[in-house]
Amino acid sequence: MNLSQDRHIPDHVTVAIVGAGPAGLGVARVLRDLAIPDVWVLERGRIGQSFLRWPAGTRLLTPSFPGNVFGLTDLNAISYDSSPGWSLKREHPDGGAYARYLEQASLAFGLNVACGIEVRELEPADDGFILHADGGEISAAFVIWACVQFGTPSDGG
Ligand SMILES: Cc1cc2nc3c(=O)[nH]c(=O)nc-3n(C[C@H](O)[C@H](O)[C@H](O)COP(=O)(O)OP(=O)(O)OC[C@H]3O[C@@H](n4cnc5c(N)ncnc54)[C@H](O)[C@@H]3O)c2cc1C
Repeated sequence: MNLSQDRHIPDHVTVAIVGAGPAGLGVARVLRDLAIPDVWVLERGRIGQSFLRWPAGTRLLTPSFPGNVFGLTDLNAISYDSSPGWSLKREHPDGGAYARYLEQASLAFGLNVACGIEVRELEPADDGFILHADGGEISAAFVIWACVQFGTPSDGG
């Protein structure tokens, strides 16, 4: 598990997921459950960076409560077996608290998350993609772009 840019990321990974928000981390968890090897999440800031940028006092509108055991998933959870409501002990977490849930979930699930790495360009290659990132290049058989709708890689324009 890795939450910093200090750890060596392999030159080639099976799946590179760009963005450590709920979408990227949720997909990483699903791929872990499917036993897909060498899955790495690359994040330019910190885990839950979008939430860390929320103004103080801004809270999730969708309520968090741990109904998972009854088949009612916590609306803000990234997996069926976790609940921000349960781990944070509050129904409407603010951005900082929700980012903390994402970080705790990443740790608990043993996800490979490399923070402080901005992916600037994606280049198609014969066997997948080359990701041009801060600090070097990584090749990946598959790429999942989880940077929200306005987060696009450079197209050279
Ligand atoms: C004020 C506010 C209140 C909200 N309230 C709710 C709510 O109550 N309930 C609800 O369900 N939703 C709510 N939302 C929406 C919710 O925050 C988003 O739907 C959710 O964050 C989307 O998740 P995501 O993983 O797709 O994107 P994000 O959480 O934005 O994650 C994308 C990640 O990608 C990283 N990234 C971007 N570009 C790159 C790059 N080139 N290289 C590396 N990393 C990159 C970013 O730093 C970020 O960490 C709210 C949003 C806002 C702004």
